[in-house]
Amino acid sequence: MENLHIVCPHCDAVNRVPSVRLEEEATCGTCKRPLFTGHPTDLSTERFLKHIQRSDIPVLVDFWAPWCGPCRTMAPFYEEATRHLEPYFRVVKVNTEAEQQLATRFAIRSIPTLAVFKGGRELARQPGAMDSKSIIAWVQQHLR
Ligand SMILES: [Zn+2]
Repeated sequence: MENLHIVCPHCDAVNRVPSVRLEEEATCGTCKRPLFTGHPTDLSTERFLKHIQRSDIPVLVDFWAPWCGPCRTMAPFYEEATRHLEPYFRVVKVNTEAEQQLATRFAIRSIPTLAVFKGGRELARQPGAMDSKSIIAWVQQHLR
């Protein structure tokens, strides 16, 4: 049976979850909270790096900032997309205003920018706001 490493969105503990049980609302072995919440997880630089490096499921990230109008417009669509993409994706957000070095390191030139990481490697990125259907379609197109 295949086990997947799932990083807890609350305490960042790395959990091993049998892939066949991924949809069974697994909880974290460390903090006992749900491994999937239906909401994007806000991550600092350190947490973001752990999530992209240790997750066996792909990580979708929204690089955004509080002052960015299109980012705020996209937020409810991103929330909705999260509910469709979990538990096969970890959906996260990085505030580029708070995490400027990370934005520089990943060469984020405009926001919002969406990117998908798997095994610590960036698979795809797309600048510009999207609705939930477009987000889901875009993400899935890069994982076939
Ligand atoms: Zn936890």
